[in-house]
Amino acid sequence: MRCAQCGTENLPGARLCVQCGAPLPAEMEGASVAAVPPAPGRVAWQPADVGPAMPAVPVSVPRRFLVLRILSVIYKVFGGIVAAFTILGALGSCLVGVAGGAMTQELERQLGTPLPQAGGLIGGVAVGLFVLLYGGFIALTLYGAGEGIALFIAIEENTRSIAASGRR
Ligand SMILES: [Zn+2]
Repeated sequence: MRCAQCGTENLPGARLCVQCGAPLPAEMEGASVAAVPPAPGRVAWQPADVGPAMPAVPVSVPRRFLVLRILSVIYKVFGGIVAAFTILGALGSCLVGVAGGAMTQELERQLGTPLPQAGGLIGGVAVGLFVLLYGGFIALTLYGAGEGIALFIAIEENTRSIAASGRR
């Protein structure tokens, strides 16, 4: 049957238009409900499952806080990137420290005099540890901000769904 409001063709027996939600004129019961197969890729319209005053609000719920959702994902992604670079930086610092220490030792052996050990393995590890702590803190802060936003959205939606179910 055709919707008087928007002209969308609805399955027979439907009480509401699938397109605009307008109430459809009542039809003879069981006339040809089972005769028409559902369109491919579309679930058969079940009039019995849907109440007469189903609001269109739940459809729009996932779209709310879109910017905050994106921000939450961005924060988490950046947190992950910072964490990855932190680990790489710390490892690199240790490697540079080891390589630098080996170079210093080689230089000492060739010159025959001890050189000041400013860098070396211990210096590299110390820098690496500092990078790990500092970068880890930034990474956790970024990720935590993303989690906080996600938590806020979850709480807000929970509150709203409780309010909506109480209204019914
Ligand atoms: Zn319609």
